[in-house]
Amino acid sequence: MKVKRVIYPGTFDPITNGHLDILNRALALFKKVEVVIGQNPHKSPLFSLDERKALIEKSVNFNRYVKVVTYRGLLVDYIKKGEKAIFIRGLRVVSDFEYELQMAIMNRKLNPNVETVFLMPNEQYIFLSSSMVRDIVKFKGDIGRFIPGVVQQALLDKYRSGNLG
Ligand code: ADP
Repeated sequence: MKVKRVIYPGTFDPITNGHLDILNRALALFKKVEVVIGQNPHKSPLFSLDERKALIEKSVNFNRYVKVVTYRGLLVDYIKKGEKAIFIRGLRVVSDFEYELQMAIMNRKLNPNVETVFLMPNEQYIFLSSSMVRDIVKFKGDIGRFIPGVVQQALLDKYRSGNLG
């Protein structure tokens, strides 16, 4: 294996069953995956980086092949010089494609040792996103089948404390 590190980057605000589906597919291909929670400049998050980290760790039952880290810098700088890495990204619908393509090309320009690999989730998650989950909770909809139990609880806690944005 030439690739040293396999990284699944994202905002994960919060993690959904769609993210977990992609993560499990990545784990079927690679021994270890690092989930890197970053700051997307276009999004103002509901959960703090540390809250998101804890939710992911609990959602994967502290699987020792999944390392969860938070990172505030440019993602390509997370990789050490000369280290070969794969970025895993999920592709749901065609509308994801343009943004993902731009990012993959830009990341490769910034660091030629980074290759992006796209995985497609089970079709039941094609229309699922963190923002949709946040909206459904706001309007008291039932989201149980789209997110892990710990995430549902955390969202309800935010809702009850009036911190749902
Ligand atoms: P970002 O802000 O980096 O897009 P997200 O947390 O929204 O962060 O998504 C991280 C990655 O997971 C992206 O590649 C996204 O396409 C993918 N993803 C998000 N939701 C799903 C889903 N329901 N099924 C498959 N992939 C998903």
